[in-house]
Amino acid sequence: MDGREAHLHDIRAALGRLQFQQYAEKRPQPDMAALEAEQAALQRDPAVAEAVAQWQGRDPGDPLLARRVELWAASLRKAAVDGDPEVLRLRRELADDLVAARYDVGGRVVELGAVRDALRKEPDPEARRHAWLSLGPLSRSLDARLRALMRLRNARARAVGAAGYVELALGHSGLARPHVETTLRRLCEATDETFTRLLGGRRVAPWDVGYLLEGQAAPPADRFPRADMLPRLHAWARQHGLDPERSGISIHFIDIPYNGLSMPIDPPRDVRVLLNPGDGHLYYKLLWHEYGHALHATGNRQTTAVLRQEPPVFNEAMAESLAFFTLEPDWVAAFGATATEAEATIRAGLGAWLLWLRTRSAHALFEYRAYDDPGGDLDGWYAEAESRYLGCDHDPAPRWAANAWFTSYPVYWQNYVLADVAAAQIHAAMRARLGRVNGNPEAIAFLREQFWAPGGSVDWQVKVERATGRPLDAGDLIARLGA
Ligand SMILES: [Zn+2]
Repeated sequence: MDGREAHLHDIRAALGRLQFQQYAEKRPQPDMAALEAEQAALQRDPAVAEAVAQWQGRDPGDPLLARRVELWAASLRKAAVDGDPEVLRLRRELADDLVAARYDVGGRVVELGAVRDALRKEPDPEARRHAWLSLGPLSRSLDARLRALMRLRNARARAVGAAGYVELALGHSGLARPHVETTLRRLCEATDETFTRLLGGRRVAPWDVGYLLEGQAAPPADRFPRADMLPRLHAWARQHGLDPERSGISIHFIDIPYNGLSMPIDPPRDVRVLLNPGDGHLYYKLLWHEYGHALHATGNRQTTAVLRQEPPVFNEAMAESLAFFTLEPDWVAAFGATATEAEATIRAGLGAWLLWLRTRSAHALFEYRAYDDPGGDLDGWYAEAESRYLGCDHDPAPRWAANAWFTSYPVYWQNYVLADVAAAQIHAAMRARLGRVNGNPEAIAFLREQFWAPGGSVDWQVKVERATGRPLDAGDLIARLGA
């Protein structure tokens, strides 16, 4: 197991370096495919499977070793589905179509970014409607194949003993489906009133929601210039007992297809944050988020590949736990804002944040229902979920299959929401214990000791419960959202 995990670590480090090069040089790195195949083979290695099966449920006399066996067993089950050759083939075929897709918006052929921009910023509702409808042809062309992929994932998941793919994927992150569903629904219900008020107290068309909540109400950008980001972050880090010069973390402003990315290449020595920022509070929040990923990776004191790894939902929770510092009025006030201005800056982001959480909740709940019955009325169910959680009219125009996550990151949407649920709970616990969190090095020490250092040696929900005194629960996030 030691040998396999050392090998896995080397493959991942090599892949990380190539991926960084790919972003920096903007050209494909042909060696990546072979490494990815090597990684997949290692994760499905029959010799490992045999050793794990032999040791599972037995006491190896060492709790850390027992935990490693348990994590390997879970990862083998997941890899049996996601690494299945037929699943991979179908997924790649659909992903290629998604990447190549262009969208016809009222006679103009554009890329997805332009569609999203139009939905946020285009003042003419008819133009927004065209942008919204432009996902139709792609969704129709992928629909049957994506249903086939979902059926296949279900079948493979059942073959390794899970109730279905949703249960397998959630279980891999230590999550039980009923708990996730209840949490998402409760969060939406508790914020219904605030959300409806922000929408102007009326139902709107589906193509109006983003425009009303994201396009019009952004906080002012002038106080938060891009040029000040790095000095600000480093000063903040020093104030919290961190040493940004000797942290192993480097930050690169690069034009990448994402807003931001953290690459744990060879932690704790080499973690790289990639960012493509503009001016504004949201970009500062994003930098703190990515820096949170990087601190999580460098603060992890586990030495084996499997114990260093944590589920994506918790990685996002750790990133958000740092981003939440930027949502404190005293963090904003440090930029020269008065207390009233600081409150206003934070409040101005509320509509976009609620929309972000509710869209993700809607997509997650839709996706679970779709996996229960891939032959169902998916266009109708997608519209139903959006209508319920985004406060808009029910419009079953085909769009669901154009949502790339269902192909490439299945059963992932809930992670964004649960990450904020966890971050809010962690911050509430820190405030209760430490008083002020900004400017307080003990807040960072708390995160390091409770969460980063143990890595995957302790289940992430157990860490949350131990550190905050209660199981993961949406109450603190609901309070934070002003409901
Ligand atoms: Zn992230």
